[in-house]
Amino acid sequence: MTFQGFPHLVDRPWPDVGHPVVLVPVGSTEQHGPHLPLDTDAIIASAVADALADRYRTDGTDAVVAPAVAVGASGEHRGFPGTLSIGTETLTMLLVELGRSAGEWAERLVLVNGHGGNVEALSTAVLTLIGEGRSTVWVPCDPASVAGIGVPVDAHAGRSETSIMQALCASRVRADRFEAGETRPIGLILPELRASGVRGVAPNGVLGDPHGASAAEGEALLQAMIAEAWARLRFGRVDARGCVVLEVGRGVAVSSDPTAGTIS
Ligand SMILES: [Zn+2]
Repeated sequence: MTFQGFPHLVDRPWPDVGHPVVLVPVGSTEQHGPHLPLDTDAIIASAVADALADRYRTDGTDAVVAPAVAVGASGEHRGFPGTLSIGTETLTMLLVELGRSAGEWAERLVLVNGHGGNVEALSTAVLTLIGEGRSTVWVPCDPASVAGIGVPVDAHAGRSETSIMQALCASRVRADRFEAGETRPIGLILPELRASGVRGVAPNGVLGDPHGASAAEGEALLQAMIAEAWARLRFGRVDARGCVVLEVGRGVAVSSDPTAGTIS
């Protein structure tokens, strides 16, 4: 097996691409409160995808990270300046076509999702690609899926997401602007969220409270998310939504619903 050395797809001239596993970070461009950048979800998904590519390569399988899908389905964040959304239908088509083209040369396509609003599109696209005989799965990188490690987790632009961004790119986090938003559990506010979007529930765009965030907590969450996603890819099975999930008792954590608890 020839590894061409470059972990990012775009760095390989075509004769060096080979037949790698292709990891695609799927993010969003949406408000993340007064203190985080709009590309937070893509930053986090890209960091997890980079780490997963490392693990594949260490394990003897060539893997590359493709350019991130930087705009997703973020309709729930409408009303905040800066939010861009292409909607579920268009995102689905984008992912299907991306998968078809990668499927001509890739061994497997792994979509690494950083935004809960993308789940419907991911599910439809992955099931379509699987139906066409293409090896495709998606995995979440969601702090809620590793809530068992004892680090506080909240829904959107709160302590957990802020901590991860402090671990990854602290200079882009505005600590002087931390303010709490809507702190009730996501399960309680879901009907309101569906009816009026994040703007109607939390005018500052925060579902949670960034106070107390730290790079140390973020690093712990990040490493747990990476370990959990890797365990899913190694040991998991594909569920009815095209998401690779762990059977109870395997790996480091189990989440039957990768979107439960947060919307990222
Ligand atoms: Zn987010």
